Amino acid sequence: MTPLYPLGLKLDGRRVLVVGGGAVATRRVPALLAAGADVVLVSPHLTPALQTHADAGRITWRPRRFEPSDVDGAWLVQVAVNDPSAAAEVSTAAEERRVFCVRADDRHAATAWTPAVTRHGPVTVGVLGGGDPRRAVAVRDAIRDLLAAGLREVERASDANPGQVALVGAGPGDPELVTVRGRRLLAAADVVVVDRLAPGLLLDELGPGVELIDASKIPYGPAAAQEEINKILVDRARAGHFVVRLKGGDPYVFGRGGEELLACAAAGVPVTVVPGVTSAVAAPAAAGIPVTHRGVAHEFAVVSGHVPPGDPQSLVDWPALARLRGTLVVLMGLKNLPLIADALLTGGRPADTPVAVVQEATTATQRTVRADLGTIATATREAGVRPPAIVVVGPVVDVLTKN
Ligand code: SAH
Repeated sequence: MTPLYPLGLKLDGRRVLVVGGGAVATRRVPALLAAGADVVLVSPHLTPALQTHADAGRITWRPRRFEPSDVDGAWLVQVAVNDPSAAAEVSTAAEERRVFCVRADDRHAATAWTPAVTRHGPVTVGVLGGGDPRRAVAVRDAIRDLLAAGLREVERASDANPGQVALVGAGPGDPELVTVRGRRLLAAADVVVVDRLAPGLLLDELGPGVELIDASKIPYGPAAAQEEINKILVDRARAGHFVVRLKGGDPYVFGRGGEELLACAAAGVPVTVVPGVTSAVAAPAAAGIPVTHRGVAHEFAVVSGHVPPGDPQSLVDWPALARLRGTLVVLMGLKNLPLIADALLTGGRPADTPVAVVQEATTATQRTVRADLGTIATATREAGVRPPAIVVVGPVVDVLTKN
């Protein structure tokens, strides 16, 4: 076969004709839309997913069989029908009009092939397998793994810029629960400043030249330590390093991410924030507790319990939370759990409300203590639960285990 000539097409605002409304079209259309194409789809029927695109006005649907004039005005044609003679009719119409035509049913009859693709930040890798789609996918997967493992040279050419800070949410504990973007930036870091809660296994992957700073080991009191962390972020970035501040869960959920962002901004250091999977939602989920459930809870509130109810420093309206029918998730509430349970009972939450305490969720040492609001403080103490742990209050706690 004559070698192919690879291209990157700028489809923004340009018409692409898709013929067929089944499974193949369902898979092809999103990438065309992501490229900004003006998608016109010809097919008597649509899958529900394509129907959603049509209803939302993202594609133009011509609900009928293909006619050769459909190709007029298109820059590219994607044939996504199974019937070879119907597909050939489209090919012929495209050929006559000198429009490139991709055929899902017969790559030999096609005038253009779509590669197997993996995207890595600004980098797009497309693989053409010389006629064997499985080979293309296998090569693509190998390259994707290589990139995910953090090819520093590639990262350097992407968006991990020296002199910048990224506040990255590391997720609740399982290293697989970091985001793809978080992991990519981590792989590009010159300096990593970690929390006690950030999953240790993620640090295993860092290169030998990376400076690792453990923020939990900084002496001084908590306030001074935060100042010191801010200073480290700013100083290292100013020295021309790409600094990743790796934080447990999500950086903005009781994570002081906002303070660090402000400190960097005040010093003129650019900051990116990569959201993370927060323990407030992930820890209940890992224990089999959905924070909402149809007909059971239509709300969930996430609060910090590090200041006890009734303390003048408290910014939490415990009487209001006691009136909540839905789900209450308390972070940093282990030490004050007896006072928190009391405050909720005093405020009117029934004593038989189910409660779960989930320790070290999503890690090998995860465990859950279940009781009700009247007994949870004692049960937790007797079980010897240690931080980090979250407290979940509400009928969702046993909604998946009842029956
Ligand atoms: N930014 C983090 C929360 C920081 S506050 C997030 O979004 O998850 C620290 C508290 O989070 C802990 O005291 C505990 O209540 C909770 N927490 C964090 N990781 C946890 C885990 N793996 N299991 C249970 N609770 C966790």
